[in-house]
Amino acid sequence: MARIVMKFGGTSVADPERIRNVAARVKREVDAGNEVAVVVSAMAGVTNQLVAWCQELSPLHDAREYDAVVATGEQVTSGLLAIALQHIGIEARSWQGWQIPIRTDGAHGKARIDTIEGAELIRRMRELRQVAVVTGFQGLGPDHRVTTLGRGGSDTSAVALAAALAADRCDIYTDVEGVFTTDPRIVAKARKLDKITYEEMLELASVGAKVLQTRSVELAMKEKVRVQVLSSFAEAPGTLVVDEDEIVEKALVAGIAYSRDEAKITIRRVPDRPGIAAAIFGPLASAAINVDMIVQNVAADGTTDMTFTVPKADLPRAEATLAGIKEAIGYAEITADRDVAKVSVVGVGMRSHAGVASTMFRTLAEKGINIQVISTSEIKVSVLIGAEYIELAVRALHTAYGLDAA
Ligand code: ADP
Ligand code: ASP
Ligand code: MG
Repeated sequence: MARIVMKFGGTSVADPERIRNVAARVKREVDAGNEVAVVVSAMAGVTNQLVAWCQELSPLHDAREYDAVVATGEQVTSGLLAIALQHIGIEARSWQGWQIPIRTDGAHGKARIDTIEGAELIRRMRELRQVAVVTGFQGLGPDHRVTTLGRGGSDTSAVALAAALAADRCDIYTDVEGVFTTDPRIVAKARKLDKITYEEMLELASVGAKVLQTRSVELAMKEKVRVQVLSSFAEAPGTLVVDEDEIVEKALVAGIAYSRDEAKITIRRVPDRPGIAAAIFGPLASAAINVDMIVQNVAADGTTDMTFTVPKADLPRAEATLAGIKEAIGYAEITADRDVAKVSVVGVGMRSHAGVASTMFRTLAEKGINIQVISTSEIKVSVLIGAEYIELAVRALHTAYGLDAA
């Protein structure tokens, strides 16, 4: 007997028929004698619709009200799955974040989980053999209002719940059969990985591989949660996220990820003096805007151009923040470009092998793709390119690093 957390993403609960399929999978685990908690996402497309409505009414909306709106999707699916389970004879009840409670910090729209009260859930699993069906993505903030964990946050709910319940496994069911060398929806030759290291998965997630939310991997690594990614539609084994020493054959490049979620901002003719970067990035940080890639040109006439990327969703707030400090800083103008995308190659093998970056630059050059910004870490190289080239770039790099399936 094991205690497991099963998480089902939006596509897996997209309609009543699929919820029935999920209930059948949960029943199988219960019938095998396991104690089960389930975490569900909103039905496919629902969160996007809710976000779009908030945007439509006000691009600079109140994050607390945004959370009140977008948290509703998960409430629907948790209730529906509990009904589907009860219908096939499985003892189950739904739980919203505030009822458990799942306590988070107060960063509405991108809150972090602080604590989860697991005792009552464990008691019910033990004594009543009751399945807890928990809303993903949401929690309770210190202001006693509902918070959400950022897009893709149900993965993090699941891993955090697994840690709180001391579960033996956290199974993340999704619409692909596991973690692939790149997004299988854009590269048909992508290969499923049997195992991937926490570190590589963390880096891939942070540069755009949507299959797991970055924080869920961070948390799994810290709390030693055994995470498996697998399909809710197939019976095939999935991908295990493991420590580096569990992987025998280490590839130079584990995978390639891309993101269309960033926008590029250029500030022209910024005075080139000490403290200028702090004067720009300080206010952006205070506005909780995550700046990613940054380049500063050499100064010619005492001024310089500064280019960096921010999440597309934060672009209006970033522009407003920069407009507010124009006088104080004395730059000439700001320009924003939404038609950019970032492609990244990730692998722990990079630590000990040179040449990964140059292969990337050569491959893109051969395709006539211009590189706008470059950034690197110990196990990753990222470049910013025109959005229209993203699929071409990912496919070419996948081939160049020998990742294509036979
Ligand atoms: P869910 O709704 O189940 O959380 P997501 O859409 O958040 O599902 O994540 C699964 C999707 O992640 C896949 O459909 C796939 O298009 C995308 N994806 C991106 N990179 C990868 C990768 N390296 N391996 C697998 N899937 C990936
Ligand atoms: N429904 C939320 C989203 O789409 C959370 C999730 O699915 O993980 O971002
Ligand atoms: Mg997801």
